Amino acid sequence: MTKKRKSGGRARKGGNIGNVQCSGCGRFVPRDKVKTVTRSVSMVDFKMRKELEESGTIIPRTLVTQNYCVSCAIHRHVLASRPKDERKDHTPLR
Ligand SMILES: [Zn+2]
Repeated sequence: MTKKRKSGGRARKGGNIGNVQCSGCGRFVPRDKVKTVTRSVSMVDFKMRKELEESGTIIPRTLVTQNYCVSCAIHRHVLASRPKDERKDHTPLR
């Protein structure tokens, strides 16, 4: 059978790595196949935060890490299907 990618879209070869749950759809995905996105999120509402920051308040931001399966990563523009010669470029889309 033809293979689209030498690695099959996974980071490691062989062995049981275990599954993690997708943050988008809840599907269980192998840990080395999942796409991880880390964003800094503020717990305060945007309008309120803007006002508070103008008055000089320091509002802490927390890092939120989310795991996406390939389908959800494409849907959320974390990944995109690209031509064969562009696939090895690992710079993030945005
Ligand atoms: Zn998903």
